[in-house]
Parts: sequence; C-alpha cells; structure tokens
Amino acid sequence: MRVSALLKQLKIAPETVLVIQDGTLVPDDVLLGDETELEIRPVISGGSGDANQPASKCRVCQAPSVIKLRRHNAHFCGKHFLRLCRSQVVQAVKDYDMLKPDDKVLIAVSGGKDSLALWDILLSLGYQVDGLYIGLGINDYSNTSRSFAEDFAASRQQHLEIVDLHEDYGFDVPSAAKATHRPPCSACGLSKRHIFDEVALKQGYDVLATGHNLDDEASVLLGNVLRWQNEYLARQHPVLPAREGFPKKVKPLVRLSERETAAYCVLTGIDYMVEECPMAAGNRHLAYKEMLNLAEERSPGTKHDFYHAFLRSVEPIFSAEFQGQKESLGKCQVCSAPSPNELCAFCRLRERVKN
Ligand code: SF4
Ligand SMILES: [Zn+2]
Ligand SMILES: [Zn+2]
Repeated sequence: MRVSALLKQLKIAPETVLVIQDGTLVPDDVLLGDETELEIRPVISGGSGDANQPASKCRVCQAPSVIKLRRHNAHFCGKHFLRLCRSQVVQAVKDYDMLKPDDKVLIAVSGGKDSLALWDILLSLGYQVDGLYIGLGINDYSNTSRSFAEDFAASRQQHLEIVDLHEDYGFDVPSAAKATHRPPCSACGLSKRHIFDEVALKQGYDVLATGHNLDDEASVLLGNVLRWQNEYLARQHPVLPAREGFPKKVKPLVRLSERETAAYCVLTGIDYMVEECPMAAGNRHLAYKEMLNLAEERSPGTKHDFYHAFLRSVEPIFSAEFQGQKESLGKCQVCSAPSPNELCAFCRLRERVKN
C-alpha cells in the first residue's frame, strides 16, 4: 500500500499531516512494507492527495522527492525543498523591506515549528538573531515548549532571553483568563505583545521578528474581511514600522505555510513542540483556518493568492484611509509604555489579576 492510499483509508487529508519515518519525511507515493512504522504528524494545513499518482521526482534535480507542494504543483527533494523555504524568506524580506544585513534582530520564540524554523533560516541567511521566550504558565505546555526553545538555542550557541510571566510579573495566562472572564488568548496576546515590545526597545534591537506564517495571516485576514474590520485590515501588513514606544515588527514567514515550516524542521532535525497549546480550543482563527483549508483542497494556492493579492491591491487602500489617524499616546505611569490612559492595558491586566 502507498502512503497516499493509507492516508485515504484513514480519512486523513495528506496536506494536513507529515508522514515521518526514522526522522525523515516519507512522500505520499512510497510503497509501504507490512512492518513499516510511521509517525503521522498533524500540521494543521489543508489539501488532499491522489492515491494513484506515479513515483515522483524533484522538480529541480530529478532525485526522488520527499514532499509534494500542491500550490507549486511540484515535488521536491530535501535539499531543494530547504532551498525553496530559504528563498521564500529572502523574497519576503526583499519585497517588504523587512531587514537590513546588519540589523540586530530579536525573534519571538515559542518552541513551536514556525519560530524555530524562522530562527534557523535567518541564521542560515547570516542575520544576527537573538531569541525571546515568554513563559506563560500554561502548565506542562509551557515547561515543554521552553525546553524546545532552550535546546535549539544551545545547539546553535545563540542567546535566548527568557521572561516568565509568573516570576517577573506575578501572574500567568490561566489566572488572567479567570480574573478577566475572557478567553485566555486575549490576555496571552496582550501580555506577549507588551513584553516583546518592552524587551526589543530596552535591549536596543532594530527589529522584532515573529513566526506568523501564511496560514496564520490568511486566517486573520479572512476574519477581518468577514467582519469588515477596516482598521485591522489597514494594519495587516507583514511589516509594522517603528514608532514612538514600538519597535519595527516583521513577519518573514508570510510566504510559507505551516506544513512547510513543519517539514523544514523535520528535514533539518529541529525538535519542536508538536502539541498545540491546550488553551487554543475555541480560538476562532482555527475555524477560519479550517475554512481556508477546504478552499485550498479544492483549489491549491487559494491561501497564498488570497493573502498576497490583498497585500498587493487592497491593503494600500485601507492603510491610506487610516494614514495619520494614529492617536498620539501618553505614557503608562507604571511601566512607561505608550498608553492613552494612566495605566497601559498590560498594567491594568496585572492589577486586575492581583485584586
Ligand atoms: S493559543 Fe492562546 S493561550 Fe495558547 S499560546 Fe496561543 S495565544 Fe496564548
Ligand atoms: Zn532536488
Ligand atoms: Zn504599563
């Protein structure tokens, strides 16, 4: 039986998983022996395969392929797939003027596939990149994800800054969710944004990079379009320039899907946190991802076209509409972060959890 037939039998869409044997990818046209042991690793993406396709070869060098990318309508061997990933990052950096060669970059690292793949790619491209990990206090999930981030940094002899919400600020994500009666992602997102900005500015980094990938950005875009949230649409650019109190922020993975970043990690031997955050259930962007995956299954390339055509043709209209409308902000009396009120949203959250 071929891998594709096995996945069909298990009712698994091939592009939602990576099939791995002994630490390497197994393409979907490979014939399996009776005793073959495989790991079928979910990567939350979309698509379906063809059970009867012939044996495939790399589009570039004709060697046996390890992965098929339906949106490129091509197969790739490991070497040329990794080259493709790096070139997609180079292209995004160039298209959107994300980084200069001597920029001091801080990358927000979660221990998951996207941030570790991005860190590795930026290092391989010669950038100077330090990591920042934030301990969110989400029980085992936080402990394990931290160790993946630390192991990566140690293996590449890179600096990883650790901030722990509980130790450094006296609360964690579960207690904040309880105190505010809001979904955990809301307090978590607010805290992460605040700490990323604070560390990047205080420690003199030129740019803050995050591992948001094509699936993340396309699903956020879909959510913003469904509700016509014009102000959010105006800010959905992969680069936010620096302004008073905020560092420059970039998303160099916007040309790579999450299946591709997962495959990048497998092929380069990067161990990452496979499990999703237990607090993610109910996050509405997961539903938007599922919707886009259905569209992608019918028409490969939909996500890419949806997001990148938006950036090319539509986003400039929205950003022009809101140009110059940024309110001038005062400073938080506790932490000096930009804020329209006496206390910034993060310090208000801390107060609320304390009381
Ligand atoms: S899923 Fe929500 S709570 Fe979990 S890390 Fe992401 S934003 Fe935070
Ligand atoms: Zn090749
Ligand atoms: Zn504050």
